[in-house]
Amino acid sequence: MSNNGNLKLAIQKSGRLSENSLQLLKNCNLDIEKFNDRLVVSIRNFKLDLLFLRDDDIPEYVQDGVAELGIVGQDVLYETKADVKVVKKLGFGRCSLRIAIPENDDLRDIEDLNGKRIATSFPNILRDFLKQNKIDAKIVNISGSVEAAPSLGIADYICDLVSTGNTLKLNKLKSSISVLESEAVLIKNKNLKNHSDKYQIFLKLLSRIESVLNANNSKYIMMNVPKNSLNDILQIIPSLKSPTVLPLADDESLAVHAVIPAEKFWEIVDDLKSAGASGILLLPIENIII
Ligand code: ATP
Ligand code: MG
Repeated sequence: MSNNGNLKLAIQKSGRLSENSLQLLKNCNLDIEKFNDRLVVSIRNFKLDLLFLRDDDIPEYVQDGVAELGIVGQDVLYETKADVKVVKKLGFGRCSLRIAIPENDDLRDIEDLNGKRIATSFPNILRDFLKQNKIDAKIVNISGSVEAAPSLGIADYICDLVSTGNTLKLNKLKSSISVLESEAVLIKNKNLKNHSDKYQIFLKLLSRIESVLNANNSKYIMMNVPKNSLNDILQIIPSLKSPTVLPLADDESLAVHAVIPAEKFWEIVDDLKSAGASGILLLPIENIII
């Protein structure tokens, strides 16, 4: 691999985290070369190289310093037990590692796991979970199609990633206890020296990522309000900073602009209308530098 002084970031080559990882980097205004099937690709306008890998390999590559940074699911990170620093949760790739049981079975209490055989491809996470809860169960380690294990008779229950539950249903299973709630995280090699050039590149990249994440979580809301409703409207808006209030030409109404948490919009829109707001616009924000 070329030693060009660039920081190296490992991301999943093809899978559930790939698209979101690339989109995050593009939103950071990184100009990514066409990569087709290449393992390493340089960013044209930033001192960064991307390494495209199987997600299972990313934690160890970052631990060993092959790449200084990586983007990987917490599930895979904890399973590999790699010694790296978690820098930031990235808000995508959310899924849940859960115990699932046959539809006609009943799990009233975590204690009911005692004596059961549980199939999983996350033996380390499951072992820690059982230990923490003082459960004595047998872990059946299989690498793929875990959900078939109960009907094949090789396990009573499974411990697997669940999002919609459709795969479980197809196999006549239902989701039960949560073992781990996971999302994608940015990880960093622990030996990256604080004053090195690469560390400076890392800090720059991190501040861009933070600005994109802040912007993803926020929206810009604009509306017209009658002058005499202004106080009511300001009470309703969960603004990050004080809203901007501007006079309008008609002399009877005002324009109110504010940055709000994206998830609040549908909670407040009816209240805003009842309080007299009209022409409500909700706009995306590209970046927020705090
Ligand atoms: P690879 O070929 O790179 O080893 P994989 O098949 O092991 O890929 P994927 O299925 O692409 O892995 O999942 C990658 C990560 O995406 C998982 O480790 C998990 O963190 C997350 N993930 C898994 N299932 C979902 C889901 N349904 N929705 C969102 N994220 C998920
Ligand atoms: Mg994998």
